[in-house]
Amino acid sequence: MDGNFNENDISRVVEADRAHIWHHLSQHKPYETTDPRIIVEGKGMRVWDQKGKEHLDAVSGGVWTVNVGYGRESIANAVRDQLIKLNYFAGSAGSIPGSHFAEKLLDKMPGLDRVYYCNSGSEANEKAFKMVRQIAHKRYGGKKHKILYRDRDYHGTTIGCLSAGGQDERNAQYGPFAPGFIRVPHCLEYRSFEQDGAPQENYGPWAADQIEKVILAEGPETVGALCLEPVTAGGGVICPPEGYWERVQEICRKYDILLHIDEVVCGVGRTGTWFGYQHYGIQPDMVTMAKGVASGYAAIACLVTTDAVFDMFKDDASDPLNYFRDISTFGGCTAGPTAGIENMRIIEDEGLLENTTNMGNYMLEQLHGLADKHPIIGDVRGKGLFLGAELVTDRSTREPAAEKHLQAVVGDCMAQGVIIGATNRSLPGKNNTLCFSPALIASRDDIDEIITAVDGALGRVFASA
Ligand code: PLP
Repeated sequence: MDGNFNENDISRVVEADRAHIWHHLSQHKPYETTDPRIIVEGKGMRVWDQKGKEHLDAVSGGVWTVNVGYGRESIANAVRDQLIKLNYFAGSAGSIPGSHFAEKLLDKMPGLDRVYYCNSGSEANEKAFKMVRQIAHKRYGGKKHKILYRDRDYHGTTIGCLSAGGQDERNAQYGPFAPGFIRVPHCLEYRSFEQDGAPQENYGPWAADQIEKVILAEGPETVGALCLEPVTAGGGVICPPEGYWERVQEICRKYDILLHIDEVVCGVGRTGTWFGYQHYGIQPDMVTMAKGVASGYAAIACLVTTDAVFDMFKDDASDPLNYFRDISTFGGCTAGPTAGIENMRIIEDEGLLENTTNMGNYMLEQLHGLADKHPIIGDVRGKGLFLGAELVTDRSTREPAAEKHLQAVVGDCMAQGVIIGATNRSLPGKNNTLCFSPALIASRDDIDEIITAVDGALGRVFASA
C-alpha cells in the first residue's frame, strides 16, 4: 500500500459512510465535524487509512482479532479454492474443512472432543448457555439452570450474553435481562483493596472462595455452570492471581458445576499458548472461541465440549427432545474452518506461539520501564501479546485516571501513526487501562515503536493534565 488510491472515490466513500453507516460502539455526533476513519488496506502489522496515512496496529484490528497479521495470501487462496468447490451447506451435514479443522483444533485441546460451529463469540456463548439449560432440564428437573459469571468479564452483545455481562455501562438501558445469571466478584489483585475482607496475601484462593460463597448462597443444586474469561480482556486485562484457577476447578468439581471458559479473545495463540486456560493446568468442560480462530479472514466461532457433555444429548434416542435443538445458518459456511486451518498452519510453521511469549515478555519489560518513568502508570499486567497498563492519578490511593485522559493518550498515539486501545467505555470509574495486543508476528522493532509512541503520548497528555 502506497496511498495511491483515487481521492474522488475515497471522498465518496467517506460521504457514504457519514450518510449511511452505523459504526459499532461509536458515538456519531463527532462525525458531523470530523471524518469517520476508514481503513483501506493492511499488510503485516500495518494498516492504511483513507488519507493514505500508515498506522502500526497494536491492537490486531481493534479487538484482538488479526492474530497472524494482514494480507495473508495463503489464507485468501485457500478460502477462494474452497468457495469454488463448496461454499455452504447447513451444519446438519458435515464438510471436509469442518472435519479437518475440528481434528486440528482438538489436537491442541487435550480432554476436549467435540466442535460446534457458529459465527461470533456471542453466539458461541449463547449456545453454551443453552446447553447448560438443556442439561438442567434433562438431568436435574430444570433445577440446575443458573449460570455464574464474573464482575468485569464480558461474554458478548446479545441479551443472553449481556445477562452474563460484568460490565455495567454495556448493560445499561438494555434490560430487562434473562433470569438465572448470577454475578461473582472479580479477581483483580491490584483492586482487591476495594473488596471487603480481601487478604494482603494469598489473594488468589480467597478470590476463588468468593465464588463458592455465591454458590452456597444460591444453592449448589441450582447452579449449572461457571463462565469465565481466562484472562479478562475489555474489563481491564486481568490475569487471575496465583492459586485462583486450581481452586476454581476444585469448586466446580465439588458442586458438579460445568466450567465454561470463554476464549473468544485468548484463544488461538494470543497469550503464547494455544488457549489461555492452558497456562493454569485446568480442564474445562466447555470452551468458546472466535476472534483469532481465523484472524478475521472469515467469520467463525466454535463451541468445544467434552464427550461427557456431548453424550448428555444422545443418551435416550426415544426422547424426541434429546438432541441439541440449535442451528446457526452460517455455521455451515466452509470459509471459516478453511481459514482456521491455514491460520493454524501459519502459527505453527512461523513459530508464532514462541514469538508471542518472547515478544510479550519483552513488551512487558518495556511497559515496566515506562512505569518507572511515568507515575501515572499504576500497574502493568498481561500474558503473551495481551497486555495492559492501568493509569492512576495517585499511586497510593490508586484513584483511576480520567477516561478523557486515556482517550487523549490513544488519540496522541493515533496521530503518531500507532493504534493502541483503552478498556472500552463500559466500566464507569474503571475505564483506565491502556490495552496492547499486537499481532503474534510482532518484532522488537514494532514493540519499540509502540513503546516510543506511548512514552511520548503519556509525557504530553499528563504534562498538561
Ligand atoms: N467474549 C469475549 C471475552 C469478548 O471479548 C467478546 C467480544 O469482544 C465476545 C465474547 C463476543 O464476541 P463477538 O463480538 O464475536 O460476538
